[in-house]
Amino acid sequence: MTLMLHNSLTREKQPFVPMDAARVTLYVCGPTVYNYAHIGNYRPAVAFDVLFRLLRRIYGADHVVYARNITDIEDKIITRALEEGVAIEAITGTYADAYHDDLTALNVLAPTIEPWATGHLADMVAMISALIERGHAYVTQSGVWFETASMADYGKLSGRRLDDNEAGARVEVREEKRNASDFALWKFAKPDEPEDAVFESPWGRGRPGWHIECSAMAQKHLGETIDIHGGGIDLQFPHHENEIAQSECAHGAPLANYWLHNGFLDMAGEKMSKSLGNVVLLKDLRETWPGEVIRFALLSGHYRAPLDWTEDLLSQAKTTLDRLYGALRRVWAEEGAEPRETGVFEALEDDLNTPKALAELARLASEANTAADRQDIEAMAEARANLIDAGALLGLLQSEPSAWEQRGNADENARIDALVKARETARANRDFAEADRIRDQLAGEGIDIMDGPGGSTWRRV
Ligand SMILES: [Zn+2]
Repeated sequence: MTLMLHNSLTREKQPFVPMDAARVTLYVCGPTVYNYAHIGNYRPAVAFDVLFRLLRRIYGADHVVYARNITDIEDKIITRALEEGVAIEAITGTYADAYHDDLTALNVLAPTIEPWATGHLADMVAMISALIERGHAYVTQSGVWFETASMADYGKLSGRRLDDNEAGARVEVREEKRNASDFALWKFAKPDEPEDAVFESPWGRGRPGWHIECSAMAQKHLGETIDIHGGGIDLQFPHHENEIAQSECAHGAPLANYWLHNGFLDMAGEKMSKSLGNVVLLKDLRETWPGEVIRFALLSGHYRAPLDWTEDLLSQAKTTLDRLYGALRRVWAEEGAEPRETGVFEALEDDLNTPKALAELARLASEANTAADRQDIEAMAEARANLIDAGALLGLLQSEPSAWEQRGNADENARIDALVKARETARANRDFAEADRIRDQLAGEGIDIMDGPGGSTWRRV
């Protein structure tokens, strides 16, 4: 089979053919770092992490270049810095760190390149200059604007015709703009803005528009045309439409051959968003659930479909992971077999069908259990290799089963470790009443002690 991807640009599922199999390029829009991110913000990071893992498997880890940016210039960041009376960098640094911390918990691989907008001002200025020279942009009193009417096929990604935009936005027409749908490439600084949010340009001091940041960073690191551009469906219009307009008018070449969009995360039937006030922050969720459970829950729906986010989804994900790790534990000692390509890989090749891939992973766990029931050592070794290898494609099952079973917060684990140690000491001193008392106490908390030649270990049951 070949990798099939649903391309938003052609509205079809197509075979994926990279321009250069030795350098497959992927760009995904990253976060604007002005606040803690909610679980919906992590859906693209996790979905495209699976794509990254799959491309690395197909083309080789050194032949995939993945750029996911950090937007550290944006109006919301300035507002936040002014509110708190701190420097821009204090805001962007804090929330970029929090974002990275969350991604680590979700087992999301670092991209090949993580460009920050502030490091690419010269690239943005060069692209805006090219757009002015080619007659696609104009300067007014408020900034530099992209002229949407100058592009014959503007709107091709979202399917919106220019006339549609005009009709809806007529009331917002600002005198200095030629068309309602024209958008800012560069915004001149207003008098009360903090100095660290103001940059130099040939047209005047100010800052770039959000869209030009991605166009410039994609071109700088991946080239004028990239293989795959990804992001949330909420970015399709206007953000991605405008990225296409800028890049294609500046370069005379397509920005991306494949456009992938992930669906919304819903809470009780409504899109999760800061403006609706129904957000669940990942950092809060992590206090109750291991990152791997959250990742599993995010992958339980197909990336293109909306995903209904519920407590039930999380507890089901946890139960399933407990079962998968339970099967892995039974075959854990049998190392050394080579994995074969499994149904997990095939499911992902079909437009990243993660629900099917997770079902295939459960099937591999059943194979492990059957092999363990029969004590068929060869089959156990094969099942172990397949589970770990297929799990790696999904970013799951990469911990030791004992570490999974002992998960929980560090203090709690330390307390249990100390009790298990105290029981060992009691046994060594032949104080069996005390040893039994500790075993009963832990059993009452749902913790099972396993005595082995190397000492005692424990797991939650
Ligand atoms: Zn973008």
